Amino acid sequence: MHVRHVPSTSTPAPADAVTGSAWVTSLAVPEGASRTRVDRVQFAPGARTRWHRHPLGQVLVVTEGTGYVQRRGGPAQLIRPGDTVRVAAGEWHWHGATDTTSMTHLAIEELPADGTPTELGDPVGEAEATAVPAVTRTLVLEQTLPEPRVFDHFEVRRITIAPHHSPGLHVHNGPVFGSIETGSAVYRIEGEPESVLTPGDVFHEPGSTRIARFDAGEDGVTFLAYFPAGPGETPRLTPLDS
Ligand code: MN
Repeated sequence: MHVRHVPSTSTPAPADAVTGSAWVTSLAVPEGASRTRVDRVQFAPGARTRWHRHPLGQVLVVTEGTGYVQRRGGPAQLIRPGDTVRVAAGEWHWHGATDTTSMTHLAIEELPADGTPTELGDPVGEAEATAVPAVTRTLVLEQTLPEPRVFDHFEVRRITIAPHHSPGLHVHNGPVFGSIETGSAVYRIEGEPESVLTPGDVFHEPGSTRIARFDAGEDGVTFLAYFPAGPGETPRLTPLDS
């Protein structure tokens, strides 16, 4: 094992592979029997790869900014931090920033033993880069309830919690779904790891389950919360002594 503490230096991306300005930082190279290569690639606004394909495919993990990925024959798709893209072996595709935002991703690739290189194609046309459909639908949460329930009404509330305020240990009489609009919160179901929710994140507080934390960050937090309720039921939050 070796740990590298010194930040790796970045080099300009090869001009034959990328249009616009991009920088590549090599984080890991094949070693011994391993054929895994990991690069960090930072795309300036407007920068993108040419169309290309990898013999064994590639995994992209977006770490900063907003960009696009597109496979041949499909629509350009917006990608943002936390998104993971699996590119199939031999699939023609491109990735890069939007015209107005930069984007950084990790690129994880297994290099073929026979040395087959990544194959480069044409530059990405402007029409292709902006061919984002007028309507996009992205599944952000699919949640199975512990048991089938009958709901006959929903309440949707916009909830704001002041900076650093915590509602404390509590329980809801039914499930709650929410999506963060602004600010951030530390969220933890009792007995489970905590996570930090930021704008765009969605969450599910299971009904009749002890919620240990929903603590607003330094800018507070505002979220939309959806409370499905059964006949004659009123969504209710019960504070508990910790
Ligand atoms: Mn690629």
